Amino acid sequence: MEEDIKEMANYCLNCANKPCSQKGCPLSNDIPAFIKCVKENNIKEAYKILLNTTVLGNICGRICPHKKQCEGSCIRGIKGEPVNIGKLEAYVFDTALKNGYDKNIKIENDLKGKKVAVVGGGPAGLTCSAFLAVKGAKVTIYEKYNKLRGNFNTWNT
Ligand code: SF4
Repeated sequence: MEEDIKEMANYCLNCANKPCSQKGCPLSNDIPAFIKCVKENNIKEAYKILLNTTVLGNICGRICPHKKQCEGSCIRGIKGEPVNIGKLEAYVFDTALKNGYDKNIKIENDLKGKKVAVVGGGPAGLTCSAFLAVKGAKVTIYEKYNKLRGNFNTWNT
């Protein structure tokens, strides 16, 4: 693990009341728990924890408005710099992608045999589709653009 990642993770206080998760994260990612795993160099477990609430960590870790969300609620930010939560989240998902951790995801049977149509291939549609697929549903995404990504053109305006 890179030294800067280790340093960032060790800077987290693993607060029991989790303001970063409970007040700051729209998805309620369990931030102290995943960062604890990063501290222990258990990236597979950190990924598993994050997968309970998100499937787009590579993206959210980079483009979420962290200063207004998780990092804006970080206790460390009261007297200094907040924990770099976004970078840690992206690191966990990048490591998972590089090492093929997704191959271990177990497809459940809860929705086996069900067909679901999801309208819109932006972040919400993709996340919804991924959670449904893990439950065993056969998902079809309908998207008006020729790419799945949502209308990210607005990010540059
Ligand atoms: S508030 Fe900050 S220091 Fe506390 S657990 Fe969350 S990221 Fe770590």
